[in-house]
Amino acid sequence: MPESEHDIALEDTDRIQGHAALVNNVKAAVALAGAVRSTLGPLGLDKMLVEEDGTSLVTNDGVTVLETAKVDHPTAQLLISASSSQDRAARDGTTTTVLLMAEILQNSIELVRMGVHPSVIINGYRMALEEALNELECIAKESDDPKYEYSIVNTCLAGKLEAETTNVLTAFALEAANLLSNEEGGDDLERLRVKRLQVSNGVIRDSKLIHGLVLPKTRLDIATPSFSDGGKIAIVDGGFENKKIDMDSSIEVTSLGLLKEFHERHLDKLQKLVEHLSSLDVDLLIVRDGVADEVIKPLSDAGITVYRRLERQDIELLAKMTGANPSRSPLNIKTTDVGRYSRRAEELIGNVKHTTIEGSEGGGMTFVIKGTTPEVRNEVKRAFDDALGVAHRLKRDPRMLPGGGGTYAHLARHLRMFASSQPGREQLAIEAYAAALEIIPRVLAENSGLDPINAILSLSAAQNNDKENGAWIGLDARTCTNSRMDEIGVLDPLFVSIHALSGATETAIGVLRIDDVLWAKQDAQTPDWQNKTEED
Ligand code: ADP
Ligand code: MG
Repeated sequence: MPESEHDIALEDTDRIQGHAALVNNVKAAVALAGAVRSTLGPLGLDKMLVEEDGTSLVTNDGVTVLETAKVDHPTAQLLISASSSQDRAARDGTTTTVLLMAEILQNSIELVRMGVHPSVIINGYRMALEEALNELECIAKESDDPKYEYSIVNTCLAGKLEAETTNVLTAFALEAANLLSNEEGGDDLERLRVKRLQVSNGVIRDSKLIHGLVLPKTRLDIATPSFSDGGKIAIVDGGFENKKIDMDSSIEVTSLGLLKEFHERHLDKLQKLVEHLSSLDVDLLIVRDGVADEVIKPLSDAGITVYRRLERQDIELLAKMTGANPSRSPLNIKTTDVGRYSRRAEELIGNVKHTTIEGSEGGGMTFVIKGTTPEVRNEVKRAFDDALGVAHRLKRDPRMLPGGGGTYAHLARHLRMFASSQPGREQLAIEAYAAALEIIPRVLAENSGLDPINAILSLSAAQNNDKENGAWIGLDARTCTNSRMDEIGVLDPLFVSIHALSGATETAIGVLRIDDVLWAKQDAQTPDWQNKTEED
């Protein structure tokens, strides 16, 4: 048989096709889900991740485990990126997404073995997803009650840190989200408006939320006041120095005093800049880069307190908080570029002097994370990021669902009924999808030391027997009983579940569509340009 052009073109490529390709991809997905399975829920265990250089990280956060793992398999990478996307969009539900995805794929294999074509499975999954999302909207309840908001944020932190710290973080996350709720901006407002500052001194429970921007700095000249109850602020997004003389340029000194005159002109220019700021009534000056030594005294004589060498993010936050417009150079600052601040104070935080600046234009906050080691502080930071992310998004979409696997057990029952109304082979796919959703209560039960099969059966029966509020019954992992999740305060936000279901389904469909995997045998090589030119 003559070789087809295809085969010749693919000579240097390993190829896995059809069924084998799917099985191989699903194996990778299941292996990946296995890595985070035991972290799910309040009794989930932690993972220790060890880098090649020996540094280690202990975490309970699914997405952190996955993003740190060095995984080569392309399907595994698709799953990791779906989990990262869940993290960016909803801040929570990353482990849930990966578990759902792997289980949906695992169940697809059975269907393919039975002779159902992947395109029929895909159709069925799309129908199941649409029905599930509609049902979620039906069972969701309004959560705009402080009691529910507290429980939702607390649930999202369950199992990550000890209870006392979890409660502290929940309260701060809600306080910050409340302050941001009147402000315009998208989901990333919580990242831009709330700075996270790590301080090595102290214990976790001393972490606190400070209104205003906290800088790990003191003023440039201690002759200026350390406290102010408000005034005008200007921000220079550059340096306060005369332009440096170019390395290659030279000054020819032809007469006595020329150098002195040159220096005086330089001082004169700087003095003019100080006068310009004074004329604008500025009493607080923030400079992103350096400030020339010669100008420190003139500035403090003019009653201007200066801070220099700030991070770009701090500059941006300060600009938002005070309404000041950062200018490239002090000379460009106009009246309209000047902003207002309402308080500035220098205080000891963890035995180091810090400066807090509060703006007049709304929310800018700093979450000061205390803890003895960087590992502890990083885990607290990740937990706070989740808590604030959820609290902030909840303000925009205040709807909630039962936690403890209640939502997924209910959807599974609902989709089984829906499947029976479908005449085509899609019915099989919808049933497989329904069964896959039970992975969440099953793993929650497993991680609580329960028998997963018994747990699912008893949860389903409990839901079925309560005709009115069945969907709101879930498994309380702490007491190992089926309870009303709204009564015991184990609640998930609606947006987390919507995103997790859609992300898991779309990624699983993406994997199902692949029937040919081509592996390049050789690594991409960089041409050796140098040798080539020598030969020429
Ligand atoms: P994810 O990365 O998916 O957010 P988590 O480890 O944070 O994974 O676990 C979240 C799941 O744990 C949610 O389904 C939530 O409802 C559930 N959960 C939280 N607290 C409890 C509890 N006390 N009992 C049962 N389930 C709980
Ligand atoms: Mg979570």
